[in-house]
Amino acid sequence: MSTSSPGRFTLAIHGGAGTILRSTMTPEREAAYHAGLRRALAAGHAVLAAGGPALDAVTAAVMALEDEPLFNAGRGAVYTSAGKQEMDAAVMNGQDHAAGAVAGICGPRNPVLAARAVMEKTEHVLLIGSAAMDFCRAQGLVMEAPEYFFTQARWDALQSTLAMRRTGTQDQDESRKHGTVGAVARDVHGHLAAATSTGGMTAKAPGRVGDTPVIGAGTWADDASCAVSGTGHGEVFIRFAAAQEISARMRLAGQTLEQAARAVVMDVLAPNDGSGGVIAVDKDGGYSLPFNCAGMYRGVVMQDGALRTAIYEEALQARQP
Ligand code: ASP
Repeated sequence: MSTSSPGRFTLAIHGGAGTILRSTMTPEREAAYHAGLRRALAAGHAVLAAGGPALDAVTAAVMALEDEPLFNAGRGAVYTSAGKQEMDAAVMNGQDHAAGAVAGICGPRNPVLAARAVMEKTEHVLLIGSAAMDFCRAQGLVMEAPEYFFTQARWDALQSTLAMRRTGTQDQDESRKHGTVGAVARDVHGHLAAATSTGGMTAKAPGRVGDTPVIGAGTWADDASCAVSGTGHGEVFIRFAAAQEISARMRLAGQTLEQAARAVVMDVLAPNDGSGGVIAVDKDGGYSLPFNCAGMYRGVVMQDGALRTAIYEEALQARQP
């Protein structure tokens, strides 16, 4: 039975669980991350406050995060071991379980729009590689040259990761390894949606696909339970069907969103080398943002319009720009 609360809306976003170490974070960098998160929250809030669908809100929020070079998605995506960018993205609509995803692409300015086009314009769920690129061009998506996606920081992260690999050194810096962006929302009509977009993991093998475009692993939305977007060690999210597991615990075991999301992140992913976190909203507009690592760039906005963000263990806070 639905206990939906009409009129209530919630948007939660993440900019990845691979945060910069506290020791190397400067006040300027921290402010830039919060500002990037706030822009994405504001983009999604505008949709929800106007009564728009959760699907449009998560798309708008993820587009803003993809456009922001600080985050590992779209502009600012990480590099494969071969020095190329291969991006993955997915969207899912909780109302009808419609879903679309792309993997291993570099070209569309906003990979989330490519995922959405797969969902809306094809009878398929996941398109990959060069054929997906042909599809994006045919759909008239805005395409960018490789220079648009280049950032010195990601390139340097690749060089140091490859150097560490050569010497067998363990990389302790999560920000060098990964990151991802995502959004989940509950709209005023009680519908849920999720979107996730990533460059994947630094120095990943060419052709490697993570959890982001795998429906049920890194992205999931189901009006009867919750919408989830994950970030972290993608292989582990796939092996444990992390996002779907949260939904299943709610539907079949009667767990609350907080219980289910926390249990999956802390008790399922963490002990299995699954460093990372999730953002999730439930059918009543409640949210949960657990992570099992040092931090996760994250934010929430509800009807009051306050853009609340956080990076490390601290509580969400509405900061002045
Ligand atoms: N989950 C992403 C992947 O494995 C990376 C991340 O979120 O850090 O591709």
